[in-house]
Amino acid sequence: MQYEKIWLSSPHMGGSERKFVTEAFDTNWVAPLGPNVNGFEQDLATWLGKGSHVAALSSGTAAIHLALILLGVGAGDEVLCQSFTFSASANPIVYQGATPVFVDSEPDTWNMCPIQLKKAIEDRIAKGKKPKAIIPVHLYGLMANMPAIMEVANAYDIPVIEDAAEALGSTLHGEAAGTFGVIAALSFNGNKIITTSGGGALVSNNAAWVEKARFLSTQARDAAPHYQHSHIGYNYRMSNISAGIGRGQMEVLAERVAQRRANYNFYVSALGNLPGISFLAEPEGYFSNRWLTCITVNPALSGGITREQIRLHLEQFNIECRPLWKPMHLQPVFADAPYYGTNIAEQLFNDGLCLPSGSNLTAEQLTFVADKIKQMW
Ligand SMILES: *Cc1c(COP(=O)(O)O)cnc(C)c1O
Repeated sequence: MQYEKIWLSSPHMGGSERKFVTEAFDTNWVAPLGPNVNGFEQDLATWLGKGSHVAALSSGTAAIHLALILLGVGAGDEVLCQSFTFSASANPIVYQGATPVFVDSEPDTWNMCPIQLKKAIEDRIAKGKKPKAIIPVHLYGLMANMPAIMEVANAYDIPVIEDAAEALGSTLHGEAAGTFGVIAALSFNGNKIITTSGGGALVSNNAAWVEKARFLSTQARDAAPHYQHSHIGYNYRMSNISAGIGRGQMEVLAERVAQRRANYNFYVSALGNLPGISFLAEPEGYFSNRWLTCITVNPALSGGITREQIRLHLEQFNIECRPLWKPMHLQPVFADAPYYGTNIAEQLFNDGLCLPSGSNLTAEQLTFVADKIKQMW
């Protein structure tokens, strides 16, 4: 290709990651335990506040899986899950032999609609089964309406697992994403706001649950000199090498959030006046890490230009863009799952596009992307 690749969201090292990783080698802590794992958990707990405890794991998906296990979700149960999300929010429900019940988004946050959530709960109870858990997601860094979701959840006494995989660094009324539900999942995959190359974490202010998550993630070994098991275990613990990268990344997390927010502001100022293009604004009290800057394109106002035309146009210049998440209730693998909503998420999928948003994009790259979009109008 003649143009240099511009990625949607690529890893961005800060500098001291290598120091922590070298330390791990020098001390031979090349294992799924060690000082970096403990240090990274401590760094995250301090960042999140509100008495959070953290178990560092191999992925965000593993964190959601263990969260469901801790809440006792099993075969035949139902779990309410935001439809507009990545499949990793819902897959662990199926790992447990349970059924996902999908809930639509609201227009203001693009995340779980509290009204549809309430309808779904009442209808599932009327049909004879009270859902075992609720999984809202903080997509693209903007948090779900947690006060309203928690109010509904508490009214029916159903525990909430926050999928905060995309929202480390985001807050609502000053409180961190991942501190609203009884358990939360974080992800440090290569494309997230900070990365450990691959990894995740389970967060809770219930210290006993976090300790149990550590136990389950290391094959559920009972205290005995031989290998003794009274639970089914998993190999889900984070390695001390990955955690070293994570410790270095935590030193620059605040900077990364600032850089991604600057990307968003740049795109708004460059493209905000184009007829038909809209950006997701922060409602009062919300602070988004702006993991990805997303636009929606209304062809009735843009002179017929669609988001797909923009995506294909940018692709010619080696610019990576993605449509917004395809809702889970429209995925072939979840075709039989119940769904409650009014097709807000479907509309977002039809009209929405994620723009290159990495914290390591240069001003020239951002300008190049914006210019290529502007020339279509
Ligand atoms: C990335 C992501 C996950 C999964 O995290 P992994 O670490 O990749 O397993 C879950 N949910 C959402 C919304 C994500 O974006």
